[in-house]
Amino acid sequence: MTSCHIAEEPVKKIAIFGGTHGNELTGVFLVKHWLEDGAEIQRVGLEVKPFITNPRAVKKCSRYIDCDLNRVFDLENLGKNRSEDLPYEVRRAQEINNLFGPKDSEDAYDIIFDLHNTTSNMGCTLILEDSTNDFLIQMFHYIKTSLAPLPCYVYLIEHPSLKYATTRSVAKYPVGIEVGPQPQGVLRADILDQMRKMIKHALDFIHHFNEGKEFPSCAIEVYKIMEKVDYPRNESGEIAAIIHPNLQTGNHCTPVTPCF
Ligand SMILES: [Zn+2]
Repeated sequence: MTSCHIAEEPVKKIAIFGGTHGNELTGVFLVKHWLEDGAEIQRVGLEVKPFITNPRAVKKCSRYIDCDLNRVFDLENLGKNRSEDLPYEVRRAQEINNLFGPKDSEDAYDIIFDLHNTTSNMGCTLILEDSTNDFLIQMFHYIKTSLAPLPCYVYLIEHPSLKYATTRSVAKYPVGIEVGPQPQGVLRADILDQMRKMIKHALDFIHHFNEGKEFPSCAIEVYKIMEKVDYPRNESGEIAAIIHPNLQTGNHCTPVTPCF
């Protein structure tokens, strides 16, 4: 995928979200750290706001309380009348939309980085939701180049049937950051270091961009889902197989059949 030119408007308002899934601890730890001491995420001319998105799920160390916060930022849920009967995450989504949006408005934050972990062995992964977004393609190219030789993959979720109403979608430029493998409820130092570096390079890129630095056209390789394969199941619908030990925790992508 290639990019030739990028927007000229300066980027000013940035948020870094942790705890969208309360048991994915790298983002939770980093955001809590930056709330206490945000020196390393500050850049001249930028407002960078670290934020815990699902504090109740973080406290319980669970993915969510009532429903997945990372699926409810559609206009229907965001527009519902406030009531105690609404699921906790829908009420929280409305609060987040008020603080960082409104979604699809001029007032919305420019960029939201949403920090996630996965148990999959997919290393450093950036998630892109729009293959025509030259600004983010340039940013991802910069992050990949800066992290090298550490690999950094780009996962494109663009197809309407695969897209979901993410927390980060409140921003004009949504960026998902997914680093693994890390078990849920566990912190690994190597994963934490990688995610921290991804944010550093992303903020450096924005700083250079705002200073007027020219970025030549670039190309990045992206992965996207080609097909979902379910487990074999018995008559009751229960999973009737486990992953073969030679495949477990492996990364089996090839140029011909990329996976994720
Ligand atoms: Zn997550």
